[in-house]
Amino acid sequence: MTVKVRFAPSPTGKLHVGNVRAALWNWLFARKMGGKFILRIDDTDLERSTKAYEDGIKNDLAWLGLDYDETINQSARFERYDAARDRLIKAGLLYPCYETAEELDRKRKLQRARSLPPVYDRAALALTDDERTGLEAEGRKAHWRFKLSQSPVNWADLIRGETTVDTKSVSDPVLIREDGMYLYTLPSCVDDIDLGVTHVIRGEDHVTNTGVQIEIFRALGDKGPQFAHHSLLLGADGQGLSKRLGALSIEAMREDGIEPAAITSLLAKLGTADPVTVEPDLRALAQGFDFARLGRAPARFDATELEALNGKILHETPFEDVRGRLSEIGVSQTLWNAVRSNITRLSDAARWASIVDGAIDPVIEDKALTDQAALLAPDELGPESWDALTQALKEKTGAKGKKLFMPLRLALTGEKHGPEMAVLFPLIGAKRARARLRGERA
Ligand code: GLU
Repeated sequence: MTVKVRFAPSPTGKLHVGNVRAALWNWLFARKMGGKFILRIDDTDLERSTKAYEDGIKNDLAWLGLDYDETINQSARFERYDAARDRLIKAGLLYPCYETAEELDRKRKLQRARSLPPVYDRAALALTDDERTGLEAEGRKAHWRFKLSQSPVNWADLIRGETTVDTKSVSDPVLIREDGMYLYTLPSCVDDIDLGVTHVIRGEDHVTNTGVQIEIFRALGDKGPQFAHHSLLLGADGQGLSKRLGALSIEAMREDGIEPAAITSLLAKLGTADPVTVEPDLRALAQGFDFARLGRAPARFDATELEALNGKILHETPFEDVRGRLSEIGVSQTLWNAVRSNITRLSDAARWASIVDGAIDPVIEDKALTDQAALLAPDELGPESWDALTQALKEKTGAKGKKLFMPLRLALTGEKHGPEMAVLFPLIGAKRARARLRGERA
């Protein structure tokens, strides 16, 4: 069996850490198994779906390195859904209903008042032909519900283990709205059958849906794919992510200077038993993918963990890999090698480039010490100059440790922290260094 999986976003919003996790796991599983990864754009909702969101999703996936073997749009496949619709109607499994949203709401309220589950009462199934004609004459349009078996549906979930959804406790789902629009449920099954999808890997918010969809697969004469439902992400505070998704979009992270490998390294391991490590090679991540490692408990996403990982990735990134990006921001190889272990974002290197090359206002904390340093600094600076200068200063002034090093760093860079001064000092150069030590803007 060739594994075929799909990632199926709706182009009604941006990709974010929550939904990209499903993309990543589908991709990792497909690549590990030598299978196919399909991008399916769930754009049956023609009003809310936009081309801009679709392009954004594709752009984000490309940036993350999650390439796909095939892409389809549901909006191009309505004929296939119509054929499935007709088949279900013929089998007596799809029936027209005429209740308005208010009427349905009233029914649910009554059920709740009587402590009954708010499950659709199937009143429309009892309508006679005359009654239906009468309702249509009133101007009502039918929406269509799938007739569930009202019995337990079981499957061996690859993450959750044996799972049961009793469709007795689920309302017959609306598959087609009164304006004729297909909701996601039926098209998804039709596509999974047509494309030969073998595994559906998605969030556990779809578990009930799976019970329903397994019945639809059967009604369409298919045994359906295997299912794996992963737990959902929470914020570091244990709260759901839904309110913060704007800030957690892949686009926002890219703009904030997060590296794609930081996102994939973190998301591949969040919610698993494995430690999070830097793994920029997606193929290597795929080799380690295993459903058995995915836990059922919700995983927590912590932006500070992502940032720390971003820094670690940059520390290990050789100049060659980022040459183009660095040349855009005016960072040389020497400077990159000097600063990469002290930054969390690549753009921080540009800040160091301007500290080394551009004018700064020095911070003078110990004037006597820095004046002395200006006198002692040689005309030519090399790799040994920093040690030589600090040694000479120590002997001359008796200052040592933080009292010696901090005033020098503040005068030379204007910053309390940063890359090793032994490396920065020669990059700053003798003339500029001397001026800064004297407290001049240089
Ligand atoms: N468009 C659906 C969603 O984003 C797809 C779910 C699925 O993978 O079947 O929730």
